Amino acid sequence: MMNFDYVRPATVAEAVAAASEKGATYLAAGTNLLDLMKGGVCHPSRLVDVTRLPGLDGVEYLADGGVRIGALVRNADLAHDAEFVRAFPSVAEALLSGASAQLRNAATVGGNVLQRTRCAYFYDAPSACNKRWPGAGCDARHGENRLHAVLGWSEACIATHPSDFCVPLVALDTVVEIEGRSGRREVALEALHRLPGDTPQRETLLERGDLIVALRLPAEARGFAAHARYIKVRERTSYAFAVVSAAASLRIEQGTIREARLALGGVAAKPWRARAAEQVLAGVAPDAAGLREAARIALADAKPSGDNAFKIELAQRILVRALTLAAAGTPERIPALPGSPFSSVSGVHHVA
Ligand code: SF4
Repeated sequence: MMNFDYVRPATVAEAVAAASEKGATYLAAGTNLLDLMKGGVCHPSRLVDVTRLPGLDGVEYLADGGVRIGALVRNADLAHDAEFVRAFPSVAEALLSGASAQLRNAATVGGNVLQRTRCAYFYDAPSACNKRWPGAGCDARHGENRLHAVLGWSEACIATHPSDFCVPLVALDTVVEIEGRSGRREVALEALHRLPGDTPQRETLLERGDLIVALRLPAEARGFAAHARYIKVRERTSYAFAVVSAAASLRIEQGTIREARLALGGVAAKPWRARAAEQVLAGVAPDAAGLREAARIALADAKPSGDNAFKIELAQRILVRALTLAAAGTPERIPALPGSPFSSVSGVHHVA
C-alpha cells in the first residue's frame, strides 16, 4: 500500500504552493504517472490534481500569428483543430503518430512534454537505474539497448525521450510558459529537457513547484506550413514509441530552400534539434545529394551506446525521407498512417 495526499487546487497559485512541498507532483491525465506509481517506479507523497484549473485548456490564436496552447489541452483536440492543422501541420502529424486514440483523447499537451523515458529498465523496479536511484548504475548500458540513445548520452544514462509531439515543436522554436514560486517565466522548449551527464535523475530545468501552463508557437512557424512533415519509424504500425523520428520544415521559394528547421526523436534524452544540418540546406535546391549531406551532418556526432549502431544509419534515412516529403509539399490531409515512412504523398498539396 502506498499512501499519498491528494489535493485539488482551485487556482494556479494554489497549485504551485501545494506542489512546492518535497515529494509532491502534478497530476493531469495521469496516462504516464499512474502507470509509474502502480509499477512502484515513483512514489509521490502528494498528488496535486491540476485538471480542474481554469484557463489552461484553450487554444488561443494570437494577433501576431502565433498560437498559445494551454497545458491542459488534450492531444486529440489539438491534433483535430482545423486552424492548427493548417498552420502547424507537422505538429498535428506528430500528435497523431503518438500513442493510441484513447490515450490521445485523455493525455494533455503539458503531460506529453513531461512524459518519462520508456527505457524498460527504468520501469523495472528491481533493475539498476541511475534515473530512479542516483548512483545505482545503469543496467541498460550493457543490457538490452537497441532502442537507446545515439546522441548526447553519458555513461550514467543512455535513455531517450519518447515524445513525438516535442520533435516538431523544438524544430519550430516553441516557448514554454512556466508558473513557479517566483512567478511566471518562459524558456525555449529546446532548453527545457536536459542531457543526462552525471545527473540523469534531473530531466528538465523545472524546479520544485514549477507548473507548465502553456506552450507557444511563434508566428514564424506558420511560414513552414506548405512544406512540413513528421516521419516516425516504430516497431509496429500503431501504439509504439519511435525507434527514430524526424521533423522537417522547409521554407522554399522558387525551388530553393530559404530556411530549414530539423529535429530528431528517439535518438537522445531530449528532442534533438539539428541546427548544423539546417544551415547547410539554406540556399540550396532540395535535391537528393543535398538532403543526404544534411542528414550526414545531423548525425555526425552520433555514436552507439550499445547494440544500436543501426539507429545512426536509420536516422539519416528517415531524415532524408522527411526532407523529401516536406519538399514535395504538405499533404492536404494528414495521411491515414501519420508519421509512417510508407504514407503517400500523392494528392492535392496544402498551400499556406
Ligand atoms: Fe535508467 Fe537511464 Fe540506464 Fe535506463 S538508460 S536504466 S533510464 S539510467
